[in-house]
Amino acid sequence: MTQKTELESDLFERMVEEVEDYAILILDTNGIILNWNKGAERIKGYKAQDIIGKSFYSFYTQSDRDAKKPDSLLKRARIDNKAQDEGWRVRADGTTFWGSITITAIHNNAGEIIGFSKVTKDLTEARKTEEARELYTQRLEAMNKELRQFAYIASHDLQEPLRTIQSFTQLLSTDYSHHFDDFGHRGMNFILEATERMSQLIKGLLDYNRLGRNPEKTLVDCNKLVSEVMDDLSLLIQESNASITVGELPQLDAYETELRLLFQNLLGNAIKFRRPQTSPNISLTASREKDFWTFSIKDDGIGIETKNNEKIFLIYQRLNHREDYEGTGIGLAHCQKIVDLHGGKIWVESELDQGSIFHFTIPIQD
Ligand code: ADP
Repeated sequence: MTQKTELESDLFERMVEEVEDYAILILDTNGIILNWNKGAERIKGYKAQDIIGKSFYSFYTQSDRDAKKPDSLLKRARIDNKAQDEGWRVRADGTTFWGSITITAIHNNAGEIIGFSKVTKDLTEARKTEEARELYTQRLEAMNKELRQFAYIASHDLQEPLRTIQSFTQLLSTDYSHHFDDFGHRGMNFILEATERMSQLIKGLLDYNRLGRNPEKTLVDCNKLVSEVMDDLSLLIQESNASITVGELPQLDAYETELRLLFQNLLGNAIKFRRPQTSPNISLTASREKDFWTFSIKDDGIGIETKNNEKIFLIYQRLNHREDYEGTGIGLAHCQKIVDLHGGKIWVESELDQGSIFHFTIPIQD
């Protein structure tokens, strides 16, 4: 080591003294404080004359002292040359601050420990923000759990009486239909249709709730997956005479069952919301950015008024009359949840009568 000139030593000492953001102290081998700087005064609140010569134990809470924390930090610094810690420390006035502390052993030329440096930073504000965030996350998680349970119980228990209504209405409409006049028949049909619809709404809610319950990611070949989805939709494709072109799709680490449902909903909608008396033309493409894939499903159907582009992703939101286009309004809410589950985004570009392009992204995992 080169010898420091007197000026350098003096400058160094003054620098340590004047640093305000860190308490920088020298302790002797027993933890007795030998110097004090501006940062120490600001963070810990002692004047130099009140603390120099005392043990650094003064900064520890009673419970930390009882647990011999200061001793064990010095011991660690002796063995490993360095000990780091974060925790509540006590100021001169008894208030506490959250400190980040590094104690480093100082050696003489013979390699013997002759003291310790102790650098402390006050992280109280950061700690408070962190604690507030943790609390907020915990509350959100609890609320989320409660909501999931509520949705499950509500939808599950609603099914029971509905089944009874459905089966008795069925019975009435088959066994007693000869007692009904025209009005009775129409009334009975309304009840049957409404209960069937309610049953679908409840099923949708239950499915929504179950989505992503215990998913496991696997390597999914989207080309294969989409071709299977198209097989499932073959009847609808034939009936509507739809033309669907599919570009080269990637292999992805994804939740397969959920991803299948996503393609099924988006392709199904692209066929369903075609303009009357036309055959839909649909394309599905994928393009890669640096760390995500974007999938785009384009149709030439009825389109969506731009002001509704976000609303349609909410549960049970529909824009068309049930007589014109059947559905429950839960499909896109499913899509939103599936894309969220993968950490991606979903949105639509559309104008009324101008067709729609639904885009979603799936992040690429290394
Ligand atoms: P559903 O298909 O059961 O009605 P969705 O949640 O899948 O429910 O869709 C919500 C609404 O968004 C639909 O009712 C429809 O108004 C609109 N929508 C969805 N996809 C399309 C599309 N490709 N073209 C036009 N409108 C669409």
